[in-house]
Amino acid sequence: MRAVRLRALDAVELEDVPEPIAGLGELVIRVTAAGVCGSDRHMVSGDYPSTPPVTLGHEVEGVVVGGGPGSSLPMGTRVAIDPNISCLQCRYCRAGLFSHCTQLHAIGVDRDGGLAEMLSVPERQAYVLPASLPTGFGALCEPLACCLRAMDHAGVKPGDSVVVLGGGVIGQLLAQLARLAGARVFLATRQREKRDLAESLGAAATVDPGAVGFVEAVAGLSGLAPGGVDVALEAAGVAETFALAMDVVRRAGTVVVVGAAPKSAVVHVRPFDIFERELRVLGSHLNPLTHGRAVDLAASGQLDLAPLITRAVGLNEAPEVLMGEPKRGEIKVHVIPSS
Ligand code: NAP
Repeated sequence: MRAVRLRALDAVELEDVPEPIAGLGELVIRVTAAGVCGSDRHMVSGDYPSTPPVTLGHEVEGVVVGGGPGSSLPMGTRVAIDPNISCLQCRYCRAGLFSHCTQLHAIGVDRDGGLAEMLSVPERQAYVLPASLPTGFGALCEPLACCLRAMDHAGVKPGDSVVVLGGGVIGQLLAQLARLAGARVFLATRQREKRDLAESLGAAATVDPGAVGFVEAVAGLSGLAPGGVDVALEAAGVAETFALAMDVVRRAGTVVVVGAAPKSAVVHVRPFDIFERELRVLGSHLNPLTHGRAVDLAASGQLDLAPLITRAVGLNEAPEVLMGEPKRGEIKVHVIPSS
């Protein structure tokens, strides 16, 4: 079968590989859609850790076509895959802190993933999808699950004002979730196309975070949220937007860092500012215990997911997508192995 393999840093190729075999408690999944994530590009460049050689693809949906001893899901079941596998035994797992597992490893990062015709997964990583769910929505459940984790941390309440910094799939999902929670949402991203999309999906206003006077436009006395927003969600993964989030949040407000900044990124922060303004600054990493909720939410129809899938490509085109820069206005590229 065909698989998109990260052979080494900066080396992605479409290869012919043996079909996967289901081990004890595992399923074989025929992939119907797999998303290309910014983290995949970071794995290719070495900015995000991975274990090559490995088949990429951690945002995966598919159909059960095989099962090893001890598995139970029937053939033909549609599933979404939670890629993050925790050991369930370490001190963090035993405390329910699964994303802090000392043995944490991930499908499409450390073991073969879904940018392929098929993959094998532990059955406990599979979440059943309703048959009626449009193709691609199951693959979007992985980023959605990460956003649910961030929303749980943020504690957004009806009537809150929320700024989301970053207009990629994470930012667009967070903006929709915050609106669903009853907040007035402002989305900050540089590209006009992404601001237009956010407005069409319900953002009350959008702003260019690169423009002069951004902080004043959001938190100034005649700004969108005079005195500052209740919650700022950093979803660009750059130092500049973290700094802006700290500047536009109100006293006793909450900043959640959802974006993955480069490890080397450094920001000038005044401890006095956090102390005296009583800011809550939280990190949000991965999707512990939120994948099932993401599936339920995707199936509920309460989110507008279709506009987030900008284009679909075949496996042949996937290496080029992974090695290149995202196109202007592009939110999510899905790889459809059957096309
Ligand atoms: P993405 O498509 O790259 O979106 C990030 C957006 O940030 C871009 O659309 C870009 O839009 C904006 N941006 C980039 N540089 C900026 C800057 N200097 N100032 C202002 N905006 C800037 O990525 P994504 O898939 O939405 O993911 C967003 C971040 O979340 C990434 O860092 C990713 O690694 C991380 N992530 C975290 C989790 C988690 O578990 N917490 C899960 C998945 C992803 P413009 O060009 O329009 O500004």
